[in-house]
Amino acid sequence: MFEKNKRVRLKGRALSRLNSAIHGRDHDRCVVCGAWVHPSVKFHHEPCGINKSDEEQKGVVLCAVCHFQRHNGKNSREIRGRIEAYLDNIYGKC
Ligand SMILES: [Zn+2]
Ligand SMILES: [Zn+2]
Repeated sequence: MFEKNKRVRLKGRALSRLNSAIHGRDHDRCVVCGAWVHPSVKFHHEPCGINKSDEEQKGVVLCAVCHFQRHNGKNSREIRGRIEAYLDNIYGKC
């Protein structure tokens, strides 16, 4: 059975479908700056790192600039906050 805190790992077609679903929800726009992002660009996991999970409510579309900043920029925390606020706004806090 499905465990509540289990991380989901998808690959192949299932992962492509998830990427399309996230792009559809975000209208192919970076959720931080609004730039258009090509549908083939892979979504960003939030949270990322060891807690990442391939689920619609744990992924967002980011443009290359914001994605780089999220992972490597000095404003990474600010960007993370904006992504979390965006997801909370859609799914609510859990
Ligand atoms: Zn952006
Ligand atoms: Zn990422």
